[in-house]
Amino acid sequence: MKVAVDERGYYGNFGGAYIPEMLYPNVEELKENYLQIIHDPQFQKQFRGLLKDYAGRPTPLYFANRLSEKYSTNIYLKREDLNHTGAHKVNNTIGQILLAQRLGKQKIIAETGAGQHGVATATVCALMGMECIVYMGEVDMARQKPNVERMKILGAEVRPASSGSKTLKDATNEALRHWINNPVDTHYIIGSVVGPHPYPEMVALFQSVISEEIKWQLKEKIDRENPDYVIACVGGGSNAAGAFYHYYENEKVNLVAVEAAGKGVNSGESAATTMLGKPGVLHGSKTLLMQTEDGQVIEPYSISAGLDYPGIGPVHAHLFESGRGKFLSATDEEAMKAGIFLSRLEGIIPAIESAHALAALDQLKFEKDDIVVVNLSGRGDKDLETYIKWGGY
Ligand SMILES: *Cc1c(COP(=O)(O)O)cnc(C)c1O
Repeated sequence: MKVAVDERGYYGNFGGAYIPEMLYPNVEELKENYLQIIHDPQFQKQFRGLLKDYAGRPTPLYFANRLSEKYSTNIYLKREDLNHTGAHKVNNTIGQILLAQRLGKQKIIAETGAGQHGVATATVCALMGMECIVYMGEVDMARQKPNVERMKILGAEVRPASSGSKTLKDATNEALRHWINNPVDTHYIIGSVVGPHPYPEMVALFQSVISEEIKWQLKEKIDRENPDYVIACVGGGSNAAGAFYHYYENEKVNLVAVEAAGKGVNSGESAATTMLGKPGVLHGSKTLLMQTEDGQVIEPYSISAGLDYPGIGPVHAHLFESGRGKFLSATDEEAMKAGIFLSRLEGIIPAIESAHALAALDQLKFEKDDIVVVNLSGRGDKDLETYIKWGGY
């Protein structure tokens, strides 16, 4: 099955670029240039060099012995948690800042919810000596103080978004407004496979290094490139898109996306977009999103800040609708248990986002010979407070 994006920026029925006219020049400039820039050998050399020497790639593909025994199958963990800054997000911010430089931009803006994407952006701006402004909802700034301070240490300016619910969507609106007013010298780094075309495909391309590595690492270890399952959590969907990318067209590989069910899919406090969402337009693309009857976005909830998003990237809406992807969900409780379970079993404390992917192991039935890859998107250091509050270990 074809998953690739078409010329208009659609994956099946989802995607596109639903933007105000004033943003058109910026988005068009990106669309006209991104593929040529990314595929340029000089760009690739610099991108690959930084992934290796700065981010620490390739990340290990680790055979989790004790976890495999528990599930009577063969489970490998793709260790994105070992990247510099502690998650996969830096793959994308490195790619986008190099692209911004080639487009002649001097300034970077970004929006952030929990602060993880803001930190990854502030990091690469420091690396490149570029000015960085990160928009963040006032409520989120209070909730995520350590990340606000991290961004400031790195030299970024954090601007509070004080309209609406003072959270991610308001920060996104502020960032878009800033971009409209500064189209010439500024690049907007979006942090997941969301936003108007070409952002979803561009971010997926930068993250596709994950499945590129899984392929040769599996080949090296067990002389086959393709696992039977790839499992990843989905907020906007960038770590999942990266882990799935080189397997989209091989239908023998089961692609499993795990959403956050929060306190339960039907509790009213959840972020299980494919279960609850309907087609609509969010942040510039047509996708599935959680909305009221009259189209107002519903505030999502998850214990993990990174999965607390009311939509999913258009590629995931397409994987869901077409049946190519299997979509599961895990509650707060299931994820927390899975996180503590992995800590005890393998000595790896996962990000709570990644723990959702691990929780899905309980919902699948594996054969003894199956090869299962779980994308461990991030490390749990940032979540220590949440683990402590949760207790139970
Ligand atoms: C941000 C984040 C996510 C969710 O973002 P995606 O775009 O869905 O990958 C998942 N895991 C970690 C560790 C994160 O920081």
